[in-house]
Amino acid sequence: MSDTQAAQELERLAELASTCTACGLAATRTNVVFGDGSTRAQVMFIGEGPGRNEDLQGLPFVGAAGQLLNQLLSEIGLQRSDAYIANVVKCRPPGNRDPRPDEIAACKGYLVDQIRLIDPTVVMTLGNFATKLLLKEERGITRLRGRAYPWWNRIVIPTFHPAAALRGGASVLASMREDFALTRATLDGRPEPRSEPEAAGHPVEQLELFG
Ligand code: SF4
Repeated sequence: MSDTQAAQELERLAELASTCTACGLAATRTNVVFGDGSTRAQVMFIGEGPGRNEDLQGLPFVGAAGQLLNQLLSEIGLQRSDAYIANVVKCRPPGNRDPRPDEIAACKGYLVDQIRLIDPTVVMTLGNFATKLLLKEERGITRLRGRAYPWWNRIVIPTFHPAAALRGGASVLASMREDFALTRATLDGRPEPRSEPEAAGHPVEQLELFG
């Protein structure tokens, strides 16, 4: 598929999502937050769901968490416009509660198509929800981060959600910097040593995309 075709297909999906009522989050959203960034990005970020500012503006990661994401990107020589950013659910859960399993299930088709069309080299999952959805893991982000997972001919690199770094202070931020450095090294095709050999060596490939 050409870049133009992929961009057109993403536009069509965004249009479809803009009137989606496939789960209960449709009732309370202001805007559907489909995604933002380069449609041919080498790095794709997947967060949890839109927050208040995102819901109001219709764009992902526009608040303080977004600024931190931009900063971490710039530290590895990338700009936000080089990446693509999406969430597990495209509509804001009321009061920023966790998305429910039925809402994640209803919405994941959009995310599957986004990954397929953008075709990134590296997918950075931000926090527990995106990481568990892609890697089908019960372990939390603290144990899973810090390593690269081969996944459907791509690499998944889990890291904390930027909001956790804003809450959690220097150690969370330092871990995120390590994970972003791992992304840089992966894009450059060189191995990056890990600081903590925490996670076990699985999963390698999932049997089906998202299952
Ligand atoms: Fe549709 Fe996803 Fe929004 Fe639910 S969260 S209404 S599935 S776009």
